[in-house]
Amino acid sequence: MIPSFSVDHRAIVPGIFTSRVDQIGSGTATTYDIRLTRPNREPAVDVSAMHSLEHIIATYLRNDPDWKDEIIYWGPMGCLTGFYLILKGNRPPREIFPLVLSAFRAVEDTETVPGTAPENCGNYLLHNLGMAKWYAVRFADYLSTHADDPAIFEYPKTERLVTDDGRSFYDS
Ligand SMILES: [Zn+2]
Repeated sequence: MIPSFSVDHRAIVPGIFTSRVDQIGSGTATTYDIRLTRPNREPAVDVSAMHSLEHIIATYLRNDPDWKDEIIYWGPMGCLTGFYLILKGNRPPREIFPLVLSAFRAVEDTETVPGTAPENCGNYLLHNLGMAKWYAVRFADYLSTHADDPAIFEYPKTERLVTDDGRSFYDS
């Protein structure tokens, strides 16, 4: 079930969006776009902070007693403006709002980035806990402030891009 619309990246605001929904066997998996910055309008997330947020929040999600069995994947976007979260099922973004908010809030209390020994990580020196906390607090405050704003849950849509040789472009 690949969506027939494309996302207008000029108009995306930070938020929690359904990127795609896939049927896998008899189950469903939903990919959420957890967008931290306004694409192409403000600086992308610092790469070492992004890496630390990946480690801290993946660890948080996979240890949350209510959610750990629903988590399939957590990882950064190549454009460094947000993360992808893949969960079992097909919940609307509003239903995962408390999970995302609590995951980013937990970053502030983190004392060390988990999994940063060279045997656990492919670039173990590329971390910045202080900057990770700065981005996490900023995003959590934004989510709290905009909790009632529908724009943080709904993509701005545009027609799907078709390349010169007739192929459709998909950003994930
Ligand atoms: Zn790593």
